[in-house]
Amino acid sequence: MYSQIIDTIKQYDTIIIHRHVRPDPDAYGSQIGLKYILDHNYPQKRVLAAGEHDYNMDFLDFPDIVEDDDFEGALVIVTDTANTDRIDDQRYRSGAKLVKIDHHPNDDDYGDICQVDTKASSSSEMIYELFTYGQVEENWSMPDAGARLLYAGIIGDTGRFLFPSTTQKTFDVAGELIKYDFDRNELHNGMYEMDRKLLHLQGYMYQNFQMNEDGAAFVKITKDILAKFEVTPADTSLLVGSLGNVKGIKAWVILIEEDSEIRVRLRSKGPVINTLAKEFGGGGHPMASGAVAYSWDEADRVIGRLKEICAKA
Ligand code: AMP
Repeated sequence: MYSQIIDTIKQYDTIIIHRHVRPDPDAYGSQIGLKYILDHNYPQKRVLAAGEHDYNMDFLDFPDIVEDDDFEGALVIVTDTANTDRIDDQRYRSGAKLVKIDHHPNDDDYGDICQVDTKASSSSEMIYELFTYGQVEENWSMPDAGARLLYAGIIGDTGRFLFPSTTQKTFDVAGELIKYDFDRNELHNGMYEMDRKLLHLQGYMYQNFQMNEDGAAFVKITKDILAKFEVTPADTSLLVGSLGNVKGIKAWVILIEEDSEIRVRLRSKGPVINTLAKEFGGGGHPMASGAVAYSWDEADRVIGRLKEICAKA
């Protein structure tokens, strides 16, 4: 399949790469990392990264401005996005051909070519694999900026190699990527340094989460709390994993109140929780998934189901 993707890339003059809304380092890493690789190896092609910029990703990179006309006859590649409604910039439909490259469960099998590998730690790891095919088949080389983006995506999605999705291959790929010239310390600081306000909210979470004897935990972050700590819902993404440090925790949900909905962010150290996310119209990975609730009653039902799942685990 990777060879087929490379053959397809060769056929198009304009390539537009998309990723999911509410981007994280793997979304940017796979999208803009691929852009750098293609730019570098096909300087005559126009390669653009679509989607709205999130200021939390300022340290990493920026997408491009893509005009409607750019899509005419273009190849569209979507990375790291399981379902079409989460693709950032719905103009992805206006391209001539569509390729999906993703590591989430393939619930929405979109694209003329669909390369899904749920065993890959990250979509960035998959882009590296695509690159290795390009290296052999087309003599591709890796620009430093591409290596930096892919490395960021891998450490982002593996929680710095801690999550069970990390494999020997993940380490091998990371080992290859750090051979390139980029400032790893600066990147790590950009990813993990937190604003004081956010750390104060983290303190609030540690003081206020509730956990039962089955290791099911939750914490509610209301609009009032966000206002009190002067933090936006998007800023909280760095805090979602922090409850994983709690001894005895099996799975947890962080409920973040936004203007008209409540973000449900689920994480697990064992029980599968994406089935629960799906029950509430969401999805994601077995150990990291999310959904949206439209009332605190609905959010409480998520907590109730999480408790049932942990009780059985
Ligand atoms: P997050 O808590 O936002 O980091 O989300 C973790 C994972 O859950 C993401 O990689 C997505 O695949 C998935 N996810 C989060 N929210 C949703 C949603 N509303 N619908 C489908 N999948 C979601």
